[in-house]
Amino acid sequence: MIKIAIVGYGNLGRGVERSIKQNKDMELVGVFTRRAPETVQTEGANAFTMDQLKHKKNEIDVCILCGGSATDLPTQTPEWTHLFNTIDSFDTHAKIPEHFAKVDQVAKENQTTSIISTGWDPGLFSLNRLYAQSILPVGETNTFWGKGVSQGHSDALRRIDGVTDAVQYTIPNSEVIEKLKAGEQLNLSTRDKHFRECFVVLEEGANAENIQEEIVSMPNYFADYDTEVHFISQAELDQNHKKMPHGGTVLHIGTTHENTKQVIEYNLQLESNPEFTASVLVAYARACVRLAKEKQFGAYTVLDIPPKYLSDRTDEELRKELL
Ligand code: NDP
Repeated sequence: MIKIAIVGYGNLGRGVERSIKQNKDMELVGVFTRRAPETVQTEGANAFTMDQLKHKKNEIDVCILCGGSATDLPTQTPEWTHLFNTIDSFDTHAKIPEHFAKVDQVAKENQTTSIISTGWDPGLFSLNRLYAQSILPVGETNTFWGKGVSQGHSDALRRIDGVTDAVQYTIPNSEVIEKLKAGEQLNLSTRDKHFRECFVVLEEGANAENIQEEIVSMPNYFADYDTEVHFISQAELDQNHKKMPHGGTVLHIGTTHENTKQVIEYNLQLESNPEFTASVLVAYARACVRLAKEKQFGAYTVLDIPPKYLSDRTDEELRKELL
């Protein structure tokens, strides 16, 4: 049995707890949290303080780190990789090389193994970009996200004065996707690829017109996109917009001999982004334990992991059943 600890219990942590129940070769040792453990509502798992984690070194094969990318993982992953094999879902794309270098150094010094930035993007989408670009070097890759909720953009809306709650959907431009698949050469700007749709609840007396203007002109978040804003009641937001769907498409259009068109499309439609991301982390946890057993210490990303290491089946079974 692979013995797993969940470090940090938010949406992703809950998803990992659910996913472990679907994997027969794994068992959950517990949830470790910075909050008072008795205040954390798990779905059956024992909850412990973060401080108790370091005393359980001999009981845990791998820690799945479920903190946020903005401030938790940059410190938590190096910190826990001192003692444990770790997995994280660090998704600040521009900072991945820096995060990798830090974790790699700690892992090599302490003879542990860490797989960072797993999930779907970065993660499965990164793998698909690699396959597509290696197989069809003459071609172009585009990634489209959505339809899905962007936590970062939803947070940005909620920070506006006069807004009490809000949800933002990122929506891919399906017309552009179809044109690319048809072989049209397009010079795409940010605005061409995605729309943004916002559902916003206002404080009583807030000026809707001003807030609409503040949203659509917000630099880095909305100014570069066509953005639609709907003002709705809290009851409607709670009823229709509290799930966390997401997904997207990696589309690579390449050519081989004499402009023969080849299309590679990898698509995810997720009813729950955190539950899916958690399932990816759990599969990579299996790979992490196997690498550690082979004494392959250091940091890795999904690009380094042999696909068969994700599976609980033997090599022989995989050859028979999947090839
Ligand atoms: P949450 O905000 O739900 O949880 C993050 C941390 O916040 C938890 O580990 C928990 O730590 C703390 N926390 C959770 N709930 C509460 C609460 N009620 N009060 C106080 N603290 C709380 O984030 P998610 O789980 O949704 O996402 C985690 C990360 O996953 C994201 O930052 C994102 O970077 C990454 N991600 C990556 C993807 C990929 O494809 N690579 C896809 C989706 C997400 P503690 O228990 O210690 O308090």
